[in-house]
Amino acid sequence: MALMGQMMSMPLLISSLIQHAARHTGDTEIVSKRCEGDLHRYTWRDAELRSRQLAQALARLGCEAGDRIGTLAWNGHRHLEIYYGASGSGLVCHTINPRLFPEQIAWIVGDAQDKLLCFDLTFLPLVEKLQPLLGSVQHYVLMTDRAHMPGQTSIPNLLCFEELIAAETGHDYVWPQFDENTASSICYTSGTTGHPKGAVYSHRSTVLHAFASAMPDAMDCSAKDVILPVVPMFHVNAWGLPYSSAIVGAKLVFPGPHLDGKSLYELFENEGVTFSAGVPTVWLGLLTHVKSQGLKFSSFKRTVIGGSACPPAMLATLMDDYGVEVIHAWGMTELSPLGTLSKLNAKQLQLPQAEQRRILEKQGKVIYGIDMAVIDDEGRSQPWDGRSSGNLVVRGHWVIASYFRQQASPLLAVDGQPGWFPTGDVATIDGDGFMQITDRSKDVIKSGGEWISSIELENIAMAHPAVHEAAVIAVAHPKWDERPLLVVVKKPGAELSREAMLAHYEGRIAKWQIPDDVAFVDEIPHTATGKIQKLRLREQFKAHRLPGT
Ligand code: ADP
Repeated sequence: MALMGQMMSMPLLISSLIQHAARHTGDTEIVSKRCEGDLHRYTWRDAELRSRQLAQALARLGCEAGDRIGTLAWNGHRHLEIYYGASGSGLVCHTINPRLFPEQIAWIVGDAQDKLLCFDLTFLPLVEKLQPLLGSVQHYVLMTDRAHMPGQTSIPNLLCFEELIAAETGHDYVWPQFDENTASSICYTSGTTGHPKGAVYSHRSTVLHAFASAMPDAMDCSAKDVILPVVPMFHVNAWGLPYSSAIVGAKLVFPGPHLDGKSLYELFENEGVTFSAGVPTVWLGLLTHVKSQGLKFSSFKRTVIGGSACPPAMLATLMDDYGVEVIHAWGMTELSPLGTLSKLNAKQLQLPQAEQRRILEKQGKVIYGIDMAVIDDEGRSQPWDGRSSGNLVVRGHWVIASYFRQQASPLLAVDGQPGWFPTGDVATIDGDGFMQITDRSKDVIKSGGEWISSIELENIAMAHPAVHEAAVIAVAHPKWDERPLLVVVKKPGAELSREAMLAHYEGRIAKWQIPDDVAFVDEIPHTATGKIQKLRLREQFKAHRLPGT
């Protein structure tokens, strides 16, 4: 008979993260640039007390276990208090991306059945417009103080966040204990086709993700860090940073709505930020500012870049020109979001610098807790040789098993073993377990039976000094089915011809993979999470005639 372990079994609860921070690094600061325009400072100890006050206020408003609390908010301390106050008290924090179309937001609130909606001042006009469509919402809370409440609004019984908090003491509130598999929060995927789908995280999955993501070969977070998540708290929980900073007791800096290069740079410098995280488009903005002003970073040491492929040119600029270590990461909403990160091991550190770079440019290796494989269309796993590409599948403690309200299981079998989540990405894995994304399966260019990686072509274009941003899409071709079209935004004032752009590909990639044409545009459309909107680009260039066709 098996002998059972005799260890304590304590549920992994989100409230334990902030309790830990309050007890052990209670005087460490949390700094927020707010919508009101001011800079707010307090500590983890204050944040924990206010989260308990909020939990009491939510209960007083009639919220019960499992009720969903929607947020339309920037990164800031009040949003953090909702993360902990709602989840910690058994409610479900539902962060909504305000950059989605209003109809999508209304649909998501309805699908999640949000009972209460908390929102920043910025979004008052949006919520006023949406309110008649939000049947499930019983209370609206404006995340501000009395002085900033509107004189007039069409929202019935609009509540003031600071008044709700002030009405409670928090001192007599004890964080409840419950099953660690209880839902803690919901994020919706952006749903490029069809309706968005809800990923419902649990306390257990969130705490395990926090543990794992803070490890040295992952985000390497510690109490010495000053962490500024540029990635929004409405984009997969700011990649878990509000949780991982609590377990290590790092100082947190929130930029609020101030995400332009100048504001970010000032905040980085004034608060001594050491670590940040965001999608490539954010760094484009920050780097443009820093370069044009001839500035340097004095405390910023490393950053995670993910959400879409980090162009090698951006990696090189940050590392070589600014001394900022880039940790390229891959993940998705369905993975809470972290799956892989690229950090060198001891063996790789002995390699020449150019070879090290090739590795760092990959999306990296899995963190313990996640398994991955690349498979063919029949579900057979492919060799880890860095060449064989296939559909990337994953499983692990913080991967969804099903979508909210959906009967059908998204999971499939690999080599006859069930329980793997198909990511929709095409990738290779090398002998050291470093994964490289070739494309999203729907973005790959299928030319005469061969696949061309749009990411690889974009990375090459981005390395040209006159290119600000580049996107490659498939355009229909009578002979080859599809051929690549390169869409380019030039740097301000830069000269670049179609011929010069195409010549830049010579010797960098096989001839047959070179794009057939270049379209220069003023702007490339982005999704609500800052990724290139390929669907829209394909639509825009549907009728584009490639040369010779
Ligand atoms: P959505 O944008 O659909 O809401 P996510 O934000 O969850 O979804 O994005 C997940 C997808 O983003 C991945 O499946 C992958 O295609 C892409 N992605 C994320 N990180 C990277 C990366 N480092 N390189 C390339 N693609 C990435």
